[in-house]
Amino acid sequence: MASKSDKSPPAKKQKLLDDVPSKSDTKSGSSLIKELKEKRNKTAASILQFKFNKNRVRILSEAKDVPDRAEGIVYWMFRDERVQDNWALLFAQKLALKNKIPLHVCFCLKPRFMEATIRHYKFLLKGLEEVAEDCKKLNIQFNFLIGDGERVLPGFVEKNSIGAVVVDFMPLKGPMSWAEQLKKTLPKDVPLCQVDAHNIVPCWIASDKQEYGARTIRNKINNKLKEYLTEFPPVIKHTYGTVKDEVIDWEGGEKTLEVDRSVEPVKWLTPGYSGAIQMLDSFINKRLKKFATKRNDPVVDALSNLSPYFHFGQISVQRAILTVREHRSKCPESVDAFCEEAIIRRELADNFCFYNKNYDNINGSFDWAKKTLNDHRKDKREYIYTKEELENAKTHDDLWNSAELQLLKEGKIHGFLRMYWAKKILEWTTSPEEALEISIYLNDKYSMDGRDPNGFVGCMWSICGIHDQGWAERNVFGKIRYMNYAGCKRKFDVAAFVARYGGKSYPYKKSK
Ligand SMILES: Cc1cc2nc3c(=O)[nH]c(=O)nc-3n(C[C@H](O)[C@H](O)[C@H](O)COP(=O)(O)OP(=O)(O)OC[C@H]3O[C@@H](n4cnc5c(N)ncnc54)[C@H](O)[C@@H]3O)c2cc1C
Repeated sequence: MASKSDKSPPAKKQKLLDDVPSKSDTKSGSSLIKELKEKRNKTAASILQFKFNKNRVRILSEAKDVPDRAEGIVYWMFRDERVQDNWALLFAQKLALKNKIPLHVCFCLKPRFMEATIRHYKFLLKGLEEVAEDCKKLNIQFNFLIGDGERVLPGFVEKNSIGAVVVDFMPLKGPMSWAEQLKKTLPKDVPLCQVDAHNIVPCWIASDKQEYGARTIRNKINNKLKEYLTEFPPVIKHTYGTVKDEVIDWEGGEKTLEVDRSVEPVKWLTPGYSGAIQMLDSFINKRLKKFATKRNDPVVDALSNLSPYFHFGQISVQRAILTVREHRSKCPESVDAFCEEAIIRRELADNFCFYNKNYDNINGSFDWAKKTLNDHRKDKREYIYTKEELENAKTHDDLWNSAELQLLKEGKIHGFLRMYWAKKILEWTTSPEEALEISIYLNDKYSMDGRDPNGFVGCMWSICGIHDQGWAERNVFGKIRYMNYAGCKRKFDVAAFVARYGGKSYPYKKSK
């Protein structure tokens, strides 16, 4: 792994993050879990007594009704890996209860997914162990299937006489095509329903087109929050069927993976729903009050650190927003800023990937950005680095190298520095295409929250001006917003960040 061969001086011994869960966090995390359970129970006795908003569901198949012969309902979980606060599972339970049949959750372990490494898969699998335990307690059959869902599910559906399949929504090309392929191979009378359990306002309802930026989607989303930002009813103990008492072979599953095993798991994140709730709890109690004023300062611990949990769906964003909003009277600016990031910016990223099939390449950018990047294609670059030099944090810039080391070691770069990090890749590579390719590759390979619409949009924003405007024209960047070291020094204590992560400044050797 790149970080192992690094010869940088050891980072100053200091606590990297305040939020490595302590015993007291675990305690408060568990009281929040209890509190949330009570809230759900107060909302409705079950999904049958709750007015489920049908706009959350899209029926992808021609079949619309569960056939009489049905002996079970399947929820194919892949983006939203949690039991409670999950509209897709709630909808699947509604179908199963209405038809008086058993409920299955299927997770299909793909041997590889984009640049995901063992770092990500271990986090995913540990989180799933908690899902499996929760399912068992609720008499919901959890099925750990090995292989691509679109290939293994038709056999499962046939064997278990499944009467409907509910799938997660993720607007990236791969997941969108899995659902399309499954639609072709399911029995003709079995409905395939997709539920957006990730966004508060379902992506197709928030807007029916690609939005220009936050300012054009903000009101569309905010105007719908009254309808969609509701409490959740509980997923209840299922009353039909009896779950099999079988041991799940998690280790065997892990062995089937065809991924890079050299990227080590990160220690500061506890995987799963309980870990996610602890992180939410520690954010509210320790960091939320600083969020409005310090979220752009990489040496202050002010961020939620929820993005890995959001990405794997181990906590619902809707739940995080409902909980954080309860603290609005104490710190209104911070709560509003968090809602802007976690609702508007995040849902804007899903909107971009859903409506723009070129979300991962220059063709997906607006005409002004394409033109300006082309106009400056041949500009002389002061530094040019290879993918390997960048991956190994071997540039002349100690701040950039420190951000890269943070990515390698902790699986997350501070949100402010992520922009600087990607913009410098544009400045130091031979073309915008190469810059985009390298930034997406590194982000997806090392970041715990990578392989996500937010990641594509973050890289496209930094390099191709997506959701941004044109700025004063300059070398290489053209009108794309520029960031530099001096600007960072004006904003925060660069030396403290460098000391923390140990990035060195390497003499530049011209390689190209
Ligand atoms: C080059 C680049 C790459 C990025 N890659 C990713 C990625 O792979 N996955 C990812 O989730 N985010 C990505 N982002 C967006 C943002 O930097 C992260 O969401 C944020 O740093 C996550 O940390 P946090 O949860 O502590 O954020 P907080 O500041 O606590 O924000 C809370 C939540 O709001 C959302 N959010 C915050 N900022 C943004 C943003 N700019 N765009 C969209 N949603 C946002 C996230 O869901 C985040 O978890 C990227 C940004 C850039 C510039």
